[in-house]
Amino acid sequence: MIPPPHGGRLVERTVSPVERDRRLAERSVLPRIQPFIDQVYDAEKIGLGAYSPLEGFQGSSDLESVLARGRLSNDLPWTMPILLTPSGKENERVVAGLSAGDEALLTDLNGEPFALLHIEEKFRYDRARLAQSTYGTQDTAHPNVADLSSLGETAVAGPIDLLRRLDHATGRFELSPAETRQEFSRRGWKNVAAYQTRNVPHTAHEYLQRCTLDRDDVDGLLVHPVLGRLKKGDYKPEIILEAYRTLVDRYYPADRVLLASLSIAMRYAGPKAALFLAIVRKNYGCGLYIVGRDQAGLGKYYDPYACQRIFDEYAIDVRPIKFAETFFCRRCGWMATPKTCGHGASEHLDTSQTRIRAALAKGEKLPSEIIRPEVVEILSRGDVLLT
Ligand SMILES: [Zn+2]
Repeated sequence: MIPPPHGGRLVERTVSPVERDRRLAERSVLPRIQPFIDQVYDAEKIGLGAYSPLEGFQGSSDLESVLARGRLSNDLPWTMPILLTPSGKENERVVAGLSAGDEALLTDLNGEPFALLHIEEKFRYDRARLAQSTYGTQDTAHPNVADLSSLGETAVAGPIDLLRRLDHATGRFELSPAETRQEFSRRGWKNVAAYQTRNVPHTAHEYLQRCTLDRDDVDGLLVHPVLGRLKKGDYKPEIILEAYRTLVDRYYPADRVLLASLSIAMRYAGPKAALFLAIVRKNYGCGLYIVGRDQAGLGKYYDPYACQRIFDEYAIDVRPIKFAETFFCRRCGWMATPKTCGHGASEHLDTSQTRIRAALAKGEKLPSEIIRPEVVEILSRGDVLLT
């Protein structure tokens, strides 16, 4: 069945356009906070219930509980801090003047108000501790850890009301949890598996998706790329989405796969991020979740299978579908894993993103065993990378 949201109830802190205009008119003189881009996305997702049961940015007791034991203070599993930590002179001046009981407007990337924050608490937090507990490192070569050093040292907590949704590069593909749930029930899907990705599809990804679609406990697949702020040099969100559209439209049965974007920051926190991303997908209505090797990992920061083991430590009411490393084996002539292929690594084609990127940059031809030619065609156009 479609699982209830995390904590039992889908949070929907949205207001109608009429109510929005009324509140904006009444509160036109409110202080404004311009959050860091990741926190702009988080505010929208809180309002839409993607982070249920969170009704707002976390306060000090939830933060402490998340860092110390991977749970909210009410004991629900939750492994990522969701904080509002405004930085910069103007933001800091505004925050200094705020106290519990005040309201502030949050502005989007164009500086326009999109959410109302009801301040419950203002507190200082320990960045080094947050980095160590969440990312397992304080190394500033880790992009999320590096970001922390540019964020404010004071967090502002409290529920938010979402006045309007953001304009995303992926347009109508950005669905809310209520919308995916509605679409699943329209399609008659009860058991939906979510596929987490942050990059263009290659055959190893496709293999996991097909194996999942073949299971008799899966009615449908939600392909749900995280397309919020990516790193410089990554493919643009609309390019990743287009590559997936090509795969889904040309190869998959239309009634078994739904493609949607999830515009949030990618958190490379290995196991803790994997569990968080699964909880978010539960809120979107998915009771099954695909976890490959080193999900949400980066470099050598995490044990590649810790992202699977964490599902044994927390009961989140989501069934993980675990896969070992996947590759194309020349001898088998097929996609395979160490569980299905008896040949050595020298027979396995490297399908890593690094390899694909390097080959494309050199104009090298990539075999269709690694990546679909239609996807190569999209990636070979100019202007596909974030600068
Ligand atoms: Zn083989």
